[in-house]
This record gives sequence, C-alpha cells and structure tokens, in this order.
Amino acid sequence: MRKIQMVDLKSQYEKIKSDVDAGIQEVIDSTSFINGPAVRNFQTELENYLGVKHVIPCANGTDALQVSMMALGLQPGDEVITTTFTFIATAEVIALLKLTPVVVDVDPDSFNIDPIAIRKAITPKTKAIVPVHLFGQCADMEAITEIAKEFKLVVIEDACQAIGADYIFKDGSRKKAGTVSEIGCTSFFPSKNLGCYGDGGAIFTNDDELAAQLRVVVNHGMTVRYYHDYIGVNSRLDSFQAAVLRVKLRLLDEYAAARTYAADYYDKAFANNPKLKTPFRSPFSSHVFHQYTLVTNAIDRNALQAFMTSKDIPAMIYYPVPMHLQKAYLDPRYKEGDFPVTEMLCSSVISLPMHTELDEEQLAYITSSLLEFVNNS
Ligand SMILES: *Cc1c(COP(=O)(O)O)cnc(C)c1O
Repeated sequence: MRKIQMVDLKSQYEKIKSDVDAGIQEVIDSTSFINGPAVRNFQTELENYLGVKHVIPCANGTDALQVSMMALGLQPGDEVITTTFTFIATAEVIALLKLTPVVVDVDPDSFNIDPIAIRKAITPKTKAIVPVHLFGQCADMEAITEIAKEFKLVVIEDACQAIGADYIFKDGSRKKAGTVSEIGCTSFFPSKNLGCYGDGGAIFTNDDELAAQLRVVVNHGMTVRYYHDYIGVNSRLDSFQAAVLRVKLRLLDEYAAARTYAADYYDKAFANNPKLKTPFRSPFSSHVFHQYTLVTNAIDRNALQAFMTSKDIPAMIYYPVPMHLQKAYLDPRYKEGDFPVTEMLCSSVISLPMHTELDEEQLAYITSSLLEFVNNS
C-alpha cells in the first residue's frame, strides 16, 4: 500500500508530469517570468471556467483578501463581520488594515457562518461581510446577500477552500463559489483543491470598475506607469505557478470527482455510527471536499488522532482554536463561551486524509482503523 498522506501531491504530479514540465520549460524558454503569457492565459481560462468577467491573479489567498478590502476603500474602524471558525488569514487582514473584525458563530451542520448571527452583529459601523466557504462547501449566500442588500454592505467571499464548488440558488440556477457576491478570493496554496507548486491566489469580480481598482492595488497603486494614485502592494502570480495551474485547472472537475469518491466511501463506512457525524451535504451547494471532517461524539478526539498516527494515518484538527480565542486576537469584546457551536467543533472535529489519489485499499485501511478505535471506546 502506498503511504497514506493528508494530501498526496507526488502521486498526482506523476500523472501530469509531462504537461507540467513542458509548461515550466516554456516559461524558462520565454523568460517571461513576470506577468507573462502563462499568467494571462491562466487568467482567461479561469474566467471561462468560473463564468466570471474578471480574474485578478495575485500572490496568495491572504493577499487576495487584503487587496479586496483595500480596493473597496474600507477605512480604519470599519467593522467587518466574519466567522470565528476559519483559518486565521481571514481575520488577519482585517486586523492588519486596522479594520475591526467582528466574529460570529457558525451553523453546526455546515460549519459555515450563521446568517442569523450576522444580522445580530450589524452596527452602524459595519461595512462588509466575509463568509468563508469552509471545507469545500458554500455558505448560505442567498440569506447573506439579502442581509447585505438591506444594510448596504459589501460581501467578500473567502473561497480559498471551495474553488469549483457550485452555489445552488433556490430557483435551481448555479454560480461558482467566489462569484456569487461582488468579490471572491481564492488561494492556490499547494494543498488547496486547485493548488500550484508554491504560493498563488486570485480575486474574482463581475464589476468592471472594481476589477480596475483591484489591478491598480496589486500593482503598487499604479494607474499610469510610475504614477501612484493609491497606496498599493506588490502581489503577483508567478509565471511558473500559472503554468502549473493551467494544467491542473483542466482537471479540476475530475479532481473534485476523485475527492467525492473518497468522501462517499468514508460516508458509507461511518453511516449511522452514533459516535461519528459525517459531513453535511448542503441543499444549496455542491461539495468539493477540500476537507473531509467528522464531528466526534462521546469519544476522546485527541486520543483518536494519536491512534490514527500510530497506524501511520495522518489526521488533522481543523481548527483547534477559534479566532476569538487566539492569543494575538484576544479582545475584551469576546470571551470563552461566546460562540458555543464553534467551540464545540474545535474540541470535537477531526479531518481525514483527503486528496485526488486515495485508492480503495487506502480507504479501507483508514476506515477500518478509525472504526477499530471508535468501537473500542
Ligand atoms: C488557505 C486559506 C487562506 C489563505 O491562503 P494563502 O494562499 O495561504 O494565503 C485564506 N482563507 C482560507 C479559508 C484558507 O483556507
């Protein structure tokens, strides 16, 4: 049996080696290292895949979020509502820009931001909402959009974990994650669903004016060469990374299907086990399984993780500490117990190996090992 990994990029690369190597060689041969044809072609291909007017490539997902907030002209003191159950980047850029992060709890089934909690957190200073499409499934965008319209707020989707997922509207129509609201952000970190071989990110929008402003901000706030009308940043997608992404974008739906195959296998093995809650499948989103996350009940989650490690099976805790209890973000507005759903999840979730290369032998070993622990505890 091949060694089980959380993410197996080596086995995946072996299948696409000739295309990836040729793409990288082409960049070297062209010496168009910065904003070369690979970046421009990838941008167009991603616009077509997502059905969005503008893709603005940038250096990583964290920058995508920061640049979005800068291009929207958010000002120090403006409040931005987001979830406390997320990767820290979401809150980090809010704090870096001296905006005020306002965090709220999540839905216990989808792990995504709770629209009712958003509504309660709105004040006259609120300017934006940042829903995170956590683990590969979209947040309740119709409910969030309705609130945003009512209070004239902008919505920035953090789609770093959900590229390729479909948001499904009540009328049955679909839009890709990150293209439902005014602005969406993604990351091409290697372990993400569309991952490159280093850092990368992108911003999506259908708004021409906003797209122009985003392009100015990622390029040193420059409108005409060497004329800087805004304070910007330097945030570019590397040409080598774009070359890798062009190959992998063509396979993104196939990759999602491979992840779903593994998720279905896990679901079947753990069905009706009172100690394990398998991932919720939302009626308003497809699931691209960035993570396969179980909620454990009445078992020692950390002992389960240690047991899996002893069986050479990696299992991860995403996330052990919510944003409002992180040392750097401690704030007198919040204390332990304020967001009970998130705090419950932080102490009970466990994520299993999830990638495009899991085979049946590995899945059988992972599920039987996990059940061995669960049934003996
Ligand atoms: C990965 C991730 C980010 C940041 O992406 P980087 O490319 O690592 O900067 C932001 N938000 C979420 C939810 C993520 O999972």
